[in-house]
Amino acid sequence: MSGASAPRSSAPAPPVSGDPFDVLVIGGGINGAGVARDLSLRGVRVALVEKREFGSGTSWASSGMIHGGLRYLQHDPEVTLHSCVDSGHIQRIAPHLVFRIPFLMPVFADDPLGAEMIEIGLEMYDLYQPFKGGRPHTRLSPAQAHELEPALSDAIEGAFTLDEWGIDAARLCAANALDAAERGALVRTHTEVVAFLQDAGGRICGARVRDRISGEERRIEARETLNATGPWVARVSQMAGAPVRLRPGKGVHLVFERRVSNLAVYAKGIDGRDMFTFPHEQNSMAGTTDDDFYGDLDRMEVGEDEVAYVLQAVERSLPGIREHRLIHAIAGVRPTLYGFGSYEDELSRDYAVFDHGARDGVPGFWTLAGGKLAAYRLMAEDASDRICRALGVEAACRTHEVPLPGGEAAVEPVEVSRRFGVGLPAALRLGFRHGARASGVLAGSVRPPRIVCACEPVLDAELRHVAREEGLQTLDDARLRVRLGVGACQGAGCGVRAAATLAEALDWSADRVSREIAFFVGERCRAMEPVVAGAQLAAVEIHRAVFLGARGFHGAEEF
Ligand SMILES: Cc1cc2nc3c(=O)[nH]c(=O)nc-3n(C[C@H](O)[C@H](O)[C@H](O)COP(=O)(O)OP(=O)(O)OC[C@H]3O[C@@H](n4cnc5c(N)ncnc54)[C@H](O)[C@@H]3O)c2cc1C
Repeated sequence: MSGASAPRSSAPAPPVSGDPFDVLVIGGGINGAGVARDLSLRGVRVALVEKREFGSGTSWASSGMIHGGLRYLQHDPEVTLHSCVDSGHIQRIAPHLVFRIPFLMPVFADDPLGAEMIEIGLEMYDLYQPFKGGRPHTRLSPAQAHELEPALSDAIEGAFTLDEWGIDAARLCAANALDAAERGALVRTHTEVVAFLQDAGGRICGARVRDRISGEERRIEARETLNATGPWVARVSQMAGAPVRLRPGKGVHLVFERRVSNLAVYAKGIDGRDMFTFPHEQNSMAGTTDDDFYGDLDRMEVGEDEVAYVLQAVERSLPGIREHRLIHAIAGVRPTLYGFGSYEDELSRDYAVFDHGARDGVPGFWTLAGGKLAAYRLMAEDASDRICRALGVEAACRTHEVPLPGGEAAVEPVEVSRRFGVGLPAALRLGFRHGARASGVLAGSVRPPRIVCACEPVLDAELRHVAREEGLQTLDDARLRVRLGVGACQGAGCGVRAAATLAEALDWSADRVSREIAFFVGERCRAMEPVVAGAQLAAVEIHRAVFLGARGFHGAEEF
C-alpha cells in the first residue's frame, strides 16, 4: 500500500519490541546512518528510521565527492581541512566504494583571477592533499591539456590538474546502516516519524512512526532522539517544538549516458560560479546549481532554465557537450545552516549539533544539520560524543579504524568472475558495491547469476541478496542500493525482470508487482523529462504509455 493512501489509525500505536532504545536516530541519509553506526560501535542501543530508502534524500543527489572543496578554502578553510582529513578516513574504511577523479581546470583569457592567482590557490590546496591521498596540482600547456582531454575548447590558454575522490553516496549510506544493524541496531526503511512521544516533564522520549508501505503505526521509545533529516530538519524539529532554521539550497545535476570526457572538467556558470562535468561510475554528471529553495522537498522538479544554465556553463569548457545524450536530471536540497544576506554559493558548509534541552528547553532531543558528505564521519563522531556524554557512555569513537561492510579486505573481481561464471564487468561492479563480500553475495544463489540490468551491470543474484539479507523493500530502492536502471535503459530494459526477481525473493502479490513497476517506471520517466526534447521526449512518452497503459502496470503514487 502506498504511504500516501495508508489509513491513519486513531488507536494507540503498539511499541516496537526491545523498547526503550538508548537513541532513536531519524533519517537514513549519510548523517543519520553515520551516527547510527558510530553509536552502535560504542555499544549503544540504537533504532534508525528512514522514511524512504537509505540515502534517498540529499545524499543521493550530491556530486558524491569526498573532496576538500577547493572553493571553500577562501571563506571556510576549516571545512576544507575537516573534509580532507575525513576523506582519508573514509578511503581507508571503504576502499571498495571510492574512485579517483582527476580534474582538469582550463584557463581562459577572460578568467578574472588569471593563471598565476589560480596557481597560488592550488598550491595552498596541495597542502591538504596528503590527508586524502591526493596528488599535487600540475600546470599544463594548451597542447598538453588537449592531449589529456581532446574535447576541451580550443580557446583555452592552459590548464591545471588537481586530484579528487568520488564515492557511491547511496551505497555509503546503506553500508553505514547495515553495519549498525549487524551490531544490533534496529534499522527500518520506509518508516516515517509522524509525531514525538513526550513524558509528563516535557522530555522527548521517542517517536510515533508509520510504516509507509503497510500503513501500520508503532511507538519507538528512546532515552535520546536525534533529528538527522537533512533538509527536512526544520520540519521535524518544528514537530518537536524546537525550531531550527536552515537556508536550503537546491542543486541540480544533469546525467549523461556513459563517459563524455576522460577527466573531470571545471566549468563556469554565466554568473561566475564554479561547476564541473565529471565521470561518475558508468555515466557522467554535470552540475551543480545552487539556488534558495522554498518548494516541496518531497516532490522536487527540474526546470528548463536549470538545464540550460548547466549546459551553458559546461559548453564553455567542452563545446561539443550538447552532442552527448542526456539521460536524466537529479535534484536535491543542501541542508545548509541559516545565514542572511549572502549569496547561496557563499554560505558556510559547516555543520551544527543542537542540544535542544539546553537550547530550547526540550530535553532528550538533538539535531545534526549542515555539513558535507565528505566530512560525515567526523560530524557523526561529534554528535555521538555529545549524545554519549548525555547517556553516561564513555566508549570512544572507532569509525575511523573499523572497516565498513566489504571494506575488510581487497576485492578480487577476477576470482569472483571465474568462480561464479559471471562476466568481468559484472564482477567488477559487484566488487565495487560489496567489496570483500562480493563472493558471499553470489554464493547464496541457487541458480547461475543472470544480468538483470545491462547498464551497470546488475545481477539477479545481487538483487535477491539485497532483498533477503539487506532488507531492501521496493523496486525503486534498488536504483539506489545497487544502481538498477540508472544507465542508458532508465528502467525500460530492467524494470520488469528486476520486479520478477524481487517478487520471488520477497513474495510479492501480482498487484504489488504491478504497483512497484508503475512507480519505478513513472519515476524514471519523471527524471528523464527535463532533459529530453523532440523525438526523445516522444520516446519517453511511448515508454510510459507501454508500461502504464498497454502492459497495464498501475497503482502506486509513492513507495
Ligand atoms: C547538489 C548537491 C551536491 C553536493 N555535492 C556534495 C559533494 O560532492 N561532496 C560533499 O561532501 N557534499 C556534497 N553535498 C552535500 C551533501 O550531500 C549533504 O551535506 C549530505 O548528503 C546531507 O546528508 P543528510 O544525512 O544530512 O541528509 P539527507 O541525505 O537528505 O538524509 C536525510 C534523510 O531523512 C529522511 N527523513 C526526512 N524526514 C523524515 C521523517 N519524518 N522520518 C524518517 N526519515 C525522514 C529523508 O528521507 C532523508 O533520506 C551536495 C549537496 C547537494 C544538494
